[in-house]
Amino acid sequence: PHPLMPGLQPAVVLLKDGTDQSQGKGQLLSNINACLALKEIVQTTLGPRGMDKLMATSNVGRKPVISNDGATIMKLLDVVHPAARVLVDISRAQDTEVGDGTTSVVVLAGSLLEKCKPYVENGVHSRTIMRAYRRSCDLAVSIIKECQVSLSATDDRRERLERLAATALNSKLVSTCREQFAAMAVDAVETLGPDGSLEDIGIKQVTGGALQNSQLLRGVAFKRTFHYAGHGQLSKSFDNPKVLCLNVELEWKSERDNAEIRITDPQKYQEVVDAEFRILYEKLDTIVASGANVVLSKLPIGDLATQYFASKGLFCAGRVPDDDLSRVARATGGRMLTATSDIDASALGVCERFEEKQVGAERFNFFYTPKSSTVTFILRGGAEQFIAESERSLHDAVCIVRRAMKAPAVVAGGGAIEMLMSTRIAQEAKKVPGKEQLLMEAFAEALEVIPWQLACNAGFDTTEVLNKLRAAHAKAFKAGKQIWLGLDINEQDGVCDTFASHVWEPSLIKLNALRAATEAACSVLSVDQTVRNVSSKATMEASRNKTADMRNRMDAAGMDGGQAAARGMSGRYGKGH
Ligand code: ADP
Ligand code: MG
Repeated sequence: PHPLMPGLQPAVVLLKDGTDQSQGKGQLLSNINACLALKEIVQTTLGPRGMDKLMATSNVGRKPVISNDGATIMKLLDVVHPAARVLVDISRAQDTEVGDGTTSVVVLAGSLLEKCKPYVENGVHSRTIMRAYRRSCDLAVSIIKECQVSLSATDDRRERLERLAATALNSKLVSTCREQFAAMAVDAVETLGPDGSLEDIGIKQVTGGALQNSQLLRGVAFKRTFHYAGHGQLSKSFDNPKVLCLNVELEWKSERDNAEIRITDPQKYQEVVDAEFRILYEKLDTIVASGANVVLSKLPIGDLATQYFASKGLFCAGRVPDDDLSRVARATGGRMLTATSDIDASALGVCERFEEKQVGAERFNFFYTPKSSTVTFILRGGAEQFIAESERSLHDAVCIVRRAMKAPAVVAGGGAIEMLMSTRIAQEAKKVPGKEQLLMEAFAEALEVIPWQLACNAGFDTTEVLNKLRAAHAKAFKAGKQIWLGLDINEQDGVCDTFASHVWEPSLIKLNALRAATEAACSVLSVDQTVRNVSSKATMEASRNKTADMRNRMDAAGMDGGQAAARGMSGRYGKGH
């Protein structure tokens, strides 16, 4: 303190004016609450009886989206709370890592935070909670590894893969057609091979028709591109055609647009035009001479070229979307060329059959390549949003099958594996002394959120169902047995052996979800201060307002600037005036 003015202490100004910093227990609790609010939004979508969310964003040009997929919902939610964003990130990571379990991971992370909230309130240190949670997570991981059932490659492999895909599709809008979609997903991945790139799977949406009319094609298909006069005369079906993929514009005006020409004599103009025609015809002749039957280009193919190809018995399509064209090139074994002078025999691809066909109200170009690893789904359905959601569901199923082929071990879903882990961790906790015991019990309780929420979403009596599950699992544990008792979604308040009823999930999904949820909970718990940095513009705005405000007050008090500034200074630094 100043010897003369005991109340006057200079405060250290460390951060910009207007910076908002909150800290301590209050901050931690408010972060937890934000995560719980987010969990509350997505939890009702969990499981086969979960509801879907309709999201209408205010972004211009965006259609409303109906989805059951955690990652999609989280992406569209536009979460601004910095702590809650952690949950958005893990859900997205789960989607890219394993492709399913995106809702579960958020619900689980939320539940972990919910269960430790009372301990935070009572002043238990975050580090203690984190240590206990990490320990429980390791325990849970080892339980999964111990109990998982590996699917051997020999017996009924295909059937098992279909079951897995069907479980993933259970919770989706397309669940009525899950057998068909599961079979399609398995077909697709089998064609692709376990290490194939997802880029070799094309998914096309055609509105109209029923979901059941969706089909899987070995090869590539895309919607007929923009076409010019002469398209009607093109041959539209070939057996064993040679396919040429180009990145070349075949339109006669193109040459003139690309260069500046100065002429002095009008006669010369005709020569320029003739030269252009000659260049274009040379290109077209090279293409025809190469023996190609189907010519595709990323760039426009004009009416002159179209008519020329028609007269020579070829098919052509310009403005083919990039990804479709590269899929055709890969599927037919051809190469994408940027100049017609590069054409040689090795650049041409082949496919078994090409045709232009009607699908619903659209014309489609089909390339059948049964020997390649490229496939295309053609999804049908009434509404655009419905087909879009079917596409996302199919993506989940494809990811599951791909994962299962790589790491073919499964656990039983419907809450069975969670109850199993919960029971064992609670038992293990008894051996641990001190606060950590309570926290491990909290972790065990948090795991019960999955069966609880599944039951809740199905309209079951959650207390009764959970009691049944707890009692049975505890009894089995005492007897030293392992049971896969989970929720029976088809019977009111029912429980059943979900392994026997084929509700299987790759153990990888559960492992990933557990680790991600624990880490997310821990990272929220490890934050005890948030500093919200205001942008420089906002700071300037604020200080300008302050100065103006000060001047107004000065005017009102009839003071001159110098004095007031000094007053303002002392006002700012002084503590007890
Ligand atoms: P996520 O985005 O986490 O995959 P889902 O909405 O797909 O969320 O729900 C997955 C949960 O539903 C898993 O816990 C799974 O075990 C459970 N589940 C799926 N099918 C069934 C079923 N037929 N009976 C009971 N539970 C099921
Ligand atoms: Mg799922």
